[in-house]
Amino acid sequence: MAATAAPDCIFCRIVGGTIPASIIHRDDDIIAFMDIGPVNPGHLLVVPTAHAASLAELQPGDGAKMFTMAQQLAAAVRRSELRCDGINLFLADGAAAGQEVFHIHLHLVPRFRGDAVRFSWPRTQPSRDDLHTHAEAIRAVL
Ligand code: AMP
Ligand code: ZN
Repeated sequence: MAATAAPDCIFCRIVGGTIPASIIHRDDDIIAFMDIGPVNPGHLLVVPTAHAASLAELQPGDGAKMFTMAQQLAAAVRRSELRCDGINLFLADGAAAGQEVFHIHLHLVPRFRGDAVRFSWPRTQPSRDDLHTHAEAIRAVL
């Protein structure tokens, strides 16, 4: 197991090659493999090879590499024979955000017209004052 691996982490096991995965790409920093429970065919995960449980633990350079790889993979999925009219990138940071595997990863989900994927994203209607207050709360600690 690599020095940066966590003993009980399923994605570290995939990085280490001790459990099966359908790998699309790997290099020293990034691995991309098919999600075992795809919401659409072609649903894949872009994962840093170094264990990082959360966005806070992720090395910024690895975050940049994850996004660059996701861009390349998005282009490949669009060129492939898989159905793909559009793509969603999705990252869950924390259990409250739906994270289930605590080795940070970016989902790449091919979308097509009429698919069954739905996001429940109930909009609110804050006042401009509220929006300014929220902006300041973030800006103050940036
Ligand atoms: P998240 O809710 O963002 O933490 O998503 C975790 C994802 O990991 C889910 O979409 C699972 O289907 C996927 N997953 C869990 N175990 C494996 C595995 N062994 N190989 C590939 N994907 C996996
Ligand atoms: Zn891990």
